[in-house]
Amino acid sequence: MPDHIVRAVTTDGFIRADAIISRDLTERARKIHACLPLATAALGRTIAAASIMGAQSKNPRDSVTIQIRGDGPLGTIIAVSDGEGNVRGCLQNPQAELPLRADKKLDVGRGVGRGQLIVTRDLGLREPYTGMVELVSGEIAEDMAAYFLESEQIHSACALGVLVDTDLSVRAAGGYIVQLMPGANESVAMRLEKAVHAAGPVTRLLDEGMSPADILFKVLDGFEPEIIYEQPVEYRCYCTEERVERVLTTLGKDELIKLADEQDHFEVTCQFCDRRYSFTSGQLKDMADGIAD
Ligand SMILES: [Zn+2]
Repeated sequence: MPDHIVRAVTTDGFIRADAIISRDLTERARKIHACLPLATAALGRTIAAASIMGAQSKNPRDSVTIQIRGDGPLGTIIAVSDGEGNVRGCLQNPQAELPLRADKKLDVGRGVGRGQLIVTRDLGLREPYTGMVELVSGEIAEDMAAYFLESEQIHSACALGVLVDTDLSVRAAGGYIVQLMPGANESVAMRLEKAVHAAGPVTRLLDEGMSPADILFKVLDGFEPEIIYEQPVEYRCYCTEERVERVLTTLGKDELIKLADEQDHFEVTCQFCDRRYSFTSGQLKDMADGIAD
């Protein structure tokens, strides 16, 4: 099943729900960063959340960035989505490992640790919108739900899952974010909570090979969901030589000249993908010349 997002609203208009299957893009992320399972799970959950939030944007050129700044061994995790849910991501320590939890699951919560979750929505306005919450558990889905409640005043149920195979590849990945819309009363909230609980862990739904639509109908059992949006999504990086140059110039004039003197060629790999950019010492000197003293 190719990666895609499906959105449904209930006919009463009180619930909006998005589900994603993101196996292929999570596998791509794993390969780019050579992730071990703990990092695959943490990064996979974060990029799935970013993809859903990105796809909720009004404009394809909008972007959503999720930064998870935890003090655990994984370090900072970053996921960036365009306005259609195409996503990219990276993390500080892809090789971090921890013992499995007592229930044999990857200990993403300890891997992430304590810290903050920061969401930046760039809607093409002068100032991007930024919201921040303290991490609740580091399990990412719970942290996202806390973000929606505290920062955007939206009650939500969020579940994100990544299953890693014995050969370290991604067997299944995806999740859902279900949100109560303004006007939804307590009884809708309670019925939804029951339905979400009855649906069971998202990893089980993913392992059964459910599509995003199947997941939505399962999680919204008892409601009348209507599918309003379907969109294929993929791992997509927007790096260009120009962007890499811009990042290099932030090193400053002296540092660039030093680099140019040290070697004939200077190679940089994009932070988000496996693309490599190579610059000659002449190009580095030109860049240095372009920076005002
Ligand atoms: Zn790139």
